[in-house]
Amino acid sequence: MLPVQRKSRSQSKMRRSHQWRANRPVVSVRCPNCGSPKLPHAACSGCGYVRPGLKITLTKGQ
Ligand SMILES: [Zn+2]
Repeated sequence: MLPVQRKSRSQSKMRRSHQWRANRPVVSVRCPNCGSPKLPHAACSGCGYVRPGLKITLTKGQ
């Protein structure tokens, strides 16, 4: 399969402008509850802390 029409130089550059995000180191923040690194906006894998008032209890096997 071939593209119907060649993309303009501007269109190609606009697509490639987002690819730098793919090879960036993974961003992590420190859990305010136990201090271990975790992904932002995600539950801590160590203690299950999400935000003040919300805590997720982790079950074995996940
Ligand atoms: Zn934690």
